Amino acid sequence: MTSPPQPTDSIGTPVSTPPDFETLRAETLAVAAGRPPRVVDAPLNTPPTFAATYIGTHQPGHGDLGYGRYGNPSWSALEEAIGALEGGRALTYASGMAAAHAVLELLPSGGTIVIPANCYLGVATAVAERATRYGLTVLTVDVADTAAVLTAAEGADMLWLESPTNPTIEVADLLAIGAGLRGNTLFVVDNTFATPLLQQPLSIGAHIVLHAATKFMSGHSDALMGALVVAKHDTARYRALEATRKLHGATPGTMEAYLVLRGIRTLSVRLAQSQANAAVLAERLATHPAIGRVRYPGLPHDPGHETAAKVMSGFGSVLSIEVANAPAAEALISSVSVWVFATSLGGVESMLERRRRWAGELPTVPEGLIRMSVGIEHVEDLWADLKQALDTLPPYSAE
Ligand SMILES: *Cc1c(COP(=O)(O)O)cnc(C)c1O
Repeated sequence: MTSPPQPTDSIGTPVSTPPDFETLRAETLAVAAGRPPRVVDAPLNTPPTFAATYIGTHQPGHGDLGYGRYGNPSWSALEEAIGALEGGRALTYASGMAAAHAVLELLPSGGTIVIPANCYLGVATAVAERATRYGLTVLTVDVADTAAVLTAAEGADMLWLESPTNPTIEVADLLAIGAGLRGNTLFVVDNTFATPLLQQPLSIGAHIVLHAATKFMSGHSDALMGALVVAKHDTARYRALEATRKLHGATPGTMEAYLVLRGIRTLSVRLAQSQANAAVLAERLATHPAIGRVRYPGLPHDPGHETAAKVMSGFGSVLSIEVANAPAAEALISSVSVWVFATSLGGVESMLERRRRWAGELPTVPEGLIRMSVGIEHVEDLWADLKQALDTLPPYSAE
């Protein structure tokens, strides 16, 4: 029997030091963060660690990971990258909704929460359920109306914003809201649509940033993942959230954490391409007779344009269009072939769906509204596919 190759003396020898994250831009952080130490024979990428438990001292104060629900090197690597991108400290969760529930848990019984009138449906539903059970007061606001947001937030326990909103693509002036917010209101921003490449809510005073990392961060529609990010100095909040995650157990899978970190490596190029595609498509869609309205803050006449130009460093790659009615929307969706009819967003593949097909979708969302998540395909293929479908629809007229 031959013995396995023996480690050489050089294993574990430091090769070079990692860069100082404080000095790096987002595109570089997305590539550099969440790597193993630079020592001889270490893998370049943090390998997936499949572990329900760990061998340890099991003595208090030794810093052991302990058990699989308490921590995992694959989560830590992903958290380092998400934290670096948002400029804070991140915790990852089994899904965006698991992260959302971890935040909603912070509301006291009988408390008051402010949410967008057009809010991500899962969050709106979760808030409504909790409101009944825990006697919460729920105030809804137009996120684009800064004065209304600030008035509603006065004395509230939590201000929960999403910007741009899903699926109506309204834009909140996070700079003005962050500057105007008074008192002890916990300020939460769902930054899923913008990603930290377009806006960083912690920098304008948000206490917690939420991500459905399932979407743009993952980017490949193959993993569910949620994240919360708090400011670097906000150790007490970080520890409290971490303690709750240990108990609640809504922890991410190892493979998912690996996949999402892999997705983050290309976030900046994916976003740049999909955003450029979205800008071209939005302009063309706006002139098509079958479409009543295109909602995309990149269009100069969009109600969110000015605010987005001020608050965000790009207009994103999700837009919504309104066709005449539900049958027209369904007809369009079933006659495209490059675009995929699916209910997600932020992937490399262009996706679209009529939001009101969901029974619970808010009545403020028009029946003929189609949300479109623009991917990274060639823009002319995306346009040709849409145009042949749109050309068969009746001209738009408000019903
Ligand atoms: C998808 C989404 C969520 C929920 O994320 P999941 O990973 O699907 O649980 C929350 N907020 C927004 C804006 C989303 O698009």
